[in-house]
Amino acid sequence: MDQFEPSSVAIRSGHFIGGEWIDQRTAQRDVVRPSDGAAYASVPIADAQTVDRAVDNASRAYRESGWPRMAPRERARVLRRFAELIAADAGTLAPLEAIGSTRPIREAYTWDVPFTSEGIRFYAEFADKVGGELVATDHDHLGMTIAEPYGVVAAIAPWNFPLVMASWKIGPALAAGNAVVVKPSEMTPFSVLRLAELAIEAGIPAGIFNVVQGDGATTGDALVRHPGIAKVTFTGSTRAGAQIMAACAESGTKPLTLELGGKSPQLVFADAPKIDEVAHRIARAISSNAGQVCVAGSRLLVQRAVAEELVERIGQAFAALRAGATWAAGTTLPPIVSEAQAARIEAIVERSAAQGAVVRCGGRRADAAVPGAFYLPTILTDVTPQTEAVRAEIFGPVLTVQTFETEEEALALASHPDYGLAAGVHTADIGRALRLVRALEAGTVWVNRYGRTNDFAMPTGGYKRSGIGKDLGRLGYEAHLRFKSVLIDTRS
Ligand code: NAD
Repeated sequence: MDQFEPSSVAIRSGHFIGGEWIDQRTAQRDVVRPSDGAAYASVPIADAQTVDRAVDNASRAYRESGWPRMAPRERARVLRRFAELIAADAGTLAPLEAIGSTRPIREAYTWDVPFTSEGIRFYAEFADKVGGELVATDHDHLGMTIAEPYGVVAAIAPWNFPLVMASWKIGPALAAGNAVVVKPSEMTPFSVLRLAELAIEAGIPAGIFNVVQGDGATTGDALVRHPGIAKVTFTGSTRAGAQIMAACAESGTKPLTLELGGKSPQLVFADAPKIDEVAHRIARAISSNAGQVCVAGSRLLVQRAVAEELVERIGQAFAALRAGATWAAGTTLPPIVSEAQAARIEAIVERSAAQGAVVRCGGRRADAAVPGAFYLPTILTDVTPQTEAVRAEIFGPVLTVQTFETEEEALALASHPDYGLAAGVHTADIGRALRLVRALEAGTVWVNRYGRTNDFAMPTGGYKRSGIGKDLGRLGYEAHLRFKSVLIDTRS
């Protein structure tokens, strides 16, 4: 699917609780399409009472539906069916995802929806593979751990990849036998509702997969504080992550997984093979989804000898991008999620320029056929570690460039005072690559590539204030389980 007509997309709004649509509105907010700024629907803001209803339904389903006690192979079968239904629904799900987000339809159709489906399938296969283990104890005892679900998991998702980010939490939580209450971002609330409908069709018991709508301050806060929530898994900003951590501590020391912000460096050495490919890789890593990616490679650190050539080529790759609506064919530079966020990007670039940064390209809004907030991919040189654009997570297509001479200098520049989400190393020297892999303080290090492959087995998560715990991989599965230690005296 290459394009669609936005007026052709049917929007159904509300909460999805206990297998039913609930449209209770004590408060609501408009939902705006980033591509053209139009308010195309509204969404209810769940108050504490509605959150209570969702968690109560989830708790009841957890106790009574048999989901956590189902034979793991059977749970896997139901989840595989869920994955198949998601893939088969791409014609509905992809426009629903694209219309109100920053995901161009071609990508939503060929990547976001299939990747969501594959993620659910990947975790379905874990259901009967992690049961705990025998523990080496003395001869008179038998020791073991038993993997058990938590109960009701609260999953809070961001707006930048609404389906994919939610699925990284829903998949492992359900496969492990938990019930979930998902709160999507108030800016992108609709596509996850469709997943909840498909879950029922797949045979997941009503109440095991619930969706509540609302903002962070009202709905998200009530959800994480609810006494019926046994575990919280969150993807979003470091600021909100800290608030959620405090709320979890205040409401009963709930365990939590946090996937937070980043300011990831890309280290390019003069010996890096195929400099043109490196330039394209770096351009893609900061312009994909208009830089609205947690692992965006936003800080280029480049050895002086190749700096000028690399910057030139990255600029050329940026120039080839086409700003456009998420529903239009050929869009390669999608909109910024909101006017407020675009204004924030603009202000950071302006203040950075006032601090001495040189705008090598971009530095202003892009023209597009639709009136959304588009921002041109931007390169800032002559920056220092103190420049605002180097320090702040901008969440837009803004690349800062710092140069170095030695590996030690590169490493020192790579270290960010707060963030440690990801890093890229581009070099032909395997020894140097391995030294840096060890030395970089980042939850993921990519060597001679940047960004994930479609491999769910690789866990992802941040060091420092970029997060706690992992999504994806076996670690992402185990994050949705608790392990009971059992010791049996065999002499009696
Ligand atoms: P955000 O923190 O503003 O919101 C994320 C979600 O949290 C939303 O659903 C929001 O309603 C909710 N929320 C906000 N405050 C809350 C509170 N106090 N209690 C409970 N819920 C609350 O983030 P965003 O703008 O939607 O997403 C962008 C951010 O997400 C960036 O910082 C980005 O780096 C980060 N992100 C991280 C990863 C990762 O894997 N590490 C992936 C994607 C995005």
